[in-house]
Amino acid sequence: MKARKDLVKKAYEFAKLAHEGDKRESGEPYFIHPMAVAKILKEWRLDEKTIVAGLLHDVVEHGAATNKDLVKEFGQEIAFLVEGVTNVAAVKLRSSQKKVFVENLRKMFVAMAADLRVVLLRLADRLHNARTLEYLPKPRGKRFARELLEIYAPLAGRLGMGEVKGEMEDLAFPFVYPKEYEWIKEYSKPYYKQADEHIKAAIKTINGELEKEGLDDFQVHGRAKHWYSLWKKLLRPEIGKEISKIYDLVALRIIVNSVEDCYLALGAVHKLWRPAARLGVSDFIAQPKPNGYQSIHTRVFGVGERMMEVQIRTLKMHEEAEFGLAAHWYYGSLKFQGARDEKLEKGVMIPEKLKWVRQLAEWQKTIKDSQELEKALKIDVLKKRIFVFTPKGDVFDLPEGATPVDFAFAVHTDLGKHIQGAKINGKMASLNSGLRSGDVCEIIKRKKAVKPSRDWLGFVKTTTARRQIQKAYL
Ligand code: MN
Repeated sequence: MKARKDLVKKAYEFAKLAHEGDKRESGEPYFIHPMAVAKILKEWRLDEKTIVAGLLHDVVEHGAATNKDLVKEFGQEIAFLVEGVTNVAAVKLRSSQKKVFVENLRKMFVAMAADLRVVLLRLADRLHNARTLEYLPKPRGKRFARELLEIYAPLAGRLGMGEVKGEMEDLAFPFVYPKEYEWIKEYSKPYYKQADEHIKAAIKTINGELEKEGLDDFQVHGRAKHWYSLWKKLLRPEIGKEISKIYDLVALRIIVNSVEDCYLALGAVHKLWRPAARLGVSDFIAQPKPNGYQSIHTRVFGVGERMMEVQIRTLKMHEEAEFGLAAHWYYGSLKFQGARDEKLEKGVMIPEKLKWVRQLAEWQKTIKDSQELEKALKIDVLKKRIFVFTPKGDVFDLPEGATPVDFAFAVHTDLGKHIQGAKINGKMASLNSGLRSGDVCEIIKRKKAVKPSRDWLGFVKTTTARRQIQKAYL
């Protein structure tokens, strides 16, 4: 224990010395940045080595030490993490040349596939820089903010770090879309205020009801929707910038100790407030989302008959929803397995759950065409995901706009070769129909396997499906 504490202390002294005299854009000493990054990593409850790497993450880039020095002073593993994050930082994602952009994005994912902690380090680094974005000169600030919106926030989302994604988006929003940001702040002000008052009243009521149910250890609070996600939602055609159609502007969140208490709390909520018939209850505890998200969501007619969303979860589920991958680390619920790829560095760690990262490592080896690779990265990794169910209730996540053919290949390659037709929510549908979150998709199978149709290449969205179809014609 003592030795580990000493390592943090040693890294602290090392970094302090390495950055002596350096200043940030804000005029503050540079050292506050690696300190802040280490603090964020500690909040995410990452392991000691990652926190140490956080303290040291800029020393090589700033030329104050070499990789060799770090190996000697801190050991192979920490030096590897620092090297990884230095390489990722050297990658300039926004580039005028598309080809360079794709190549750089590829490099980032290679580093990430080698050890996911490198990405967490990078995300912590970007997050702290985002929090101090106002000090950057304007054009650079805007570029940085764009990168946050296009790469890092979606990446955080894919790693299940919902809170990090929301914060990054909100920090970038005023720099990328200043007019829209001003508009939404003004426009939503009275609605937020009203929603806030309703939630406050609801919290009082529900507190009493939960106690009556015999719950003694719980937290209830309101959660205001992030600005950027509100703006995105307002732009949806079915909302049409009508803020009164958004019922989760401020949601009520109940955090309890056990799964049993979640259902007790749900009962208490429904005793007080009638659930909305059509929107109803989503039980992501019984049926977690593919990224592991668990919670019960219910939409009820709350105080003053106003529609309100209530989210119920355990503390562990809550932390996993906020910190995603990092929380899984802490709870040890992920088994880290080395990818079977000798080309990647030693110390490879990829959780079984994040299959797509491993797939990515494979694609970047096999896909030579840079346009195809760009598609794979941008659509399969960074695009918004939808959740589609098999008739038996298994759930698969796919990029937005995916079709029954994509679904079939995601379930099993073999199923893709037996496609006769498809049903969506029990109704016959054409194979190029766009699936939506929550759809149940049934593939009607042929008796014998056949070559997938070449025409499908015209509409499939996932790289898995595209590659399987192409393979049949090689
Ligand atoms: Mn940095």
